[in-house]
Amino acid sequence: MASRKAISTEIKLRLFSDSAGYCQNPDCLQPLYPAEMGGEKHIAEMAHVIPHGEKGPRHEERPTKEFEADSFENLILLCPTCHTIIDKAPDGFSRSTLLGWKSKHLVALAHSQGIQTYEDRNQAREAVAAAMAENKAIWKEYAPVDGGSFDYNPESEAAKTWENRMRGVILPNHFRIEAIIKKNQCHMDPDEQETFARYQEHVRGLAARHIGGVAGEALRYPAAMDGIFS
Ligand SMILES: [Zn+2]
Ligand SMILES: [Zn+2]
Repeated sequence: MASRKAISTEIKLRLFSDSAGYCQNPDCLQPLYPAEMGGEKHIAEMAHVIPHGEKGPRHEERPTKEFEADSFENLILLCPTCHTIIDKAPDGFSRSTLLGWKSKHLVALAHSQGIQTYEDRNQAREAVAAAMAENKAIWKEYAPVDGGSFDYNPESEAAKTWENRMRGVILPNHFRIEAIIKKNQCHMDPDEQETFARYQEHVRGLAARHIGGVAGEALRYPAAMDGIFS
């Protein structure tokens, strides 16, 4: 049997950021880094929309032209329960249903979290303020100082606590802030647009490092973000 290539880190990261850390079934939307697990482990499963072989759920919907089963387009990020359900009862979950879940995921998530387009900047500001304040407080309490001891001892308790807060609280907050701002781009001036673009790069870097396990520096948090919509 020909060996399959492992799904690339790049695709995994794209799936994670696309999902914003939540199961992509709109009727589920379970956090993939459950708080009960302290942000330490994720429960995300990459599910194939169309399987590799001639058998398996939805295999009869395989496109006739060239097709890559392990591509970003053919994968969806789900919690273990939803993955089991779509594979055991594939008749209820066609290819177009699953791709529809994926394309409307952020809208469904925003809706479930009460994220909306506000009438003015002040309301948008209020909507992001709590998550921003929480992140800042955690960062002050737990973040390693540049060049600090975490670099030398990643097994230390402090380093573990930081990782858990990052995955369980800080990153979900960032995803939430991003979703709110995207829905309220109409209230941003050009400088804020630029700040937001850099902020998104910052979050992407954090996710790459703390979810994708990719070493390297994230773009620094742009200080101007503190004043967004103010
Ligand atoms: Zn599967
Ligand atoms: Zn689910």
